Amino acid sequence: MKFFPVFLRVADQRVAVSGGGAAAVAKLRLLLKTEARIEVHAAEIDPVIAGWAAKGRLIVLPRPIGAADMAGLRLVYAANEEAQEDARVAALAAASGVPCNIVDNLQASAFLTPALVDRDPLVVAIGTEGAGPVLARKIKAHLEEHLPAGLGRVLDRARALRPQAEALPPGRARRAYWAALFDRALAGDTAPAAPAPQDAPSPVPGRVLFVGAGPGDPDDLTLRARRALDRADVVIHDRLVPQPILELARREAEIVEAGKTGFGPAMPQDAINRLIVDRARAGALVVRLKSGDPGVFGRLDEEIDACAAAGLDWAILPGITAASAAAARLGQSLTRRGRNSELRLLTGQETDGLADHDWAALARPGTVAAIYMGKRAARFIQGRLLMHGARPDTPVSVVENAGRPDERILAARLGRLAAEIAAADLRGPAVLMLGLAPRAATAAPAPLAEVAP
Ligand code: SAH
Repeated sequence: MKFFPVFLRVADQRVAVSGGGAAAVAKLRLLLKTEARIEVHAAEIDPVIAGWAAKGRLIVLPRPIGAADMAGLRLVYAANEEAQEDARVAALAAASGVPCNIVDNLQASAFLTPALVDRDPLVVAIGTEGAGPVLARKIKAHLEEHLPAGLGRVLDRARALRPQAEALPPGRARRAYWAALFDRALAGDTAPAAPAPQDAPSPVPGRVLFVGAGPGDPDDLTLRARRALDRADVVIHDRLVPQPILELARREAEIVEAGKTGFGPAMPQDAINRLIVDRARAGALVVRLKSGDPGVFGRLDEEIDACAAAGLDWAILPGITAASAAAARLGQSLTRRGRNSELRLLTGQETDGLADHDWAALARPGTVAAIYMGKRAARFIQGRLLMHGARPDTPVSVVENAGRPDERILAARLGRLAAEIAAADLRGPAVLMLGLAPRAATAAPAPLAEVAP
């Protein structure tokens, strides 16, 4: 190791930057994260620096840095983007014993600035001694993705919780409390709970996360959802959640399919509720993984009620719902000024049969509605809408497997909706987008063509 990593106290200490151009701006962006007293020595400064100066975040001294300025400096950056002036600054710094970094000149620098992942007070510094800055950036990107933004807040809170945690018996119980708290924080749960001294010897009670898996492509998961899968002890998922997403679950996690097709659960709802509650009570982090957004036709309330009744902690992590994925693939917006100022999400199917709706409202021109579980109800929906005066040429796009590699779009018209669906032999989940045609087809509305993804 040619460079030894340390964390240097800079709060209320003077740090100087010589130079006022782009290189100085880049270093200042980092320095401004600290509580250092920053001074910029430059005759000409970038407007961004002027803006910081106007806000009092740093001071600008419009003259070259001199020997007298060096006294008491913690660090100095030579960011003049001019070799001679940088060398002059470095020599002054060396004479005064102030560590100097020359931007883009590692050989002549006394210290280097690492790539930073900032979750203050947690800071990860990555350095390669100049050998692979691209690798440092890749590692940084990886960590940025995996460390929740709220992790710093958790640490602040952990500091505040320390006295209460110290009241737990030392050893296993205390360690288990901290381990569980940080496990959850890493899973995206950034609101840690205080320890409950009365149940100190028993394991920390579990938690249930209702997580939206999105339309099916792992890339459409939220970062929060990914972290939750990373950490889950138990994953209870719907049948609509495809294998590539389940692969992301922690290797040790217990994976349970509580699946259902559109018609009737394979596992009765009561049994699902019981499973969630039992596992969480045993101390597990339970991820209840639902396709799309958990709050859209996901029987979420029944499961939340079960958790609440059992006194369990729970949270909802939203996901991309099928309607959003489908509209994106159609190249259309879900609401549009002058066309529809409301958007309806409907189900074609209720537990006891076909769903009834405000057909008169739905039949009005310009209406946009996403109809979930609508394949089998298509004939009924078509009949009701036509009966209430909807035009037979109203576009209805059927998007099957929206957001997945095997996606298909059926650019149908209301008058032939049921026939089109029957002919297409749809096998995957499909959402019916009433009032939306694929953008390309709006120009030439005649053919009821199937558009390849
Ligand atoms: N919570 C889910 C909906 C669950 S209900 C969400 O927010 O998307 C199940 C219905 O959702 C299916 O019958 C289908 O209509 C729709 N659906 C779910 N995933 C889909 C996908 N990838 N493509 C098209 N429709 C989908």
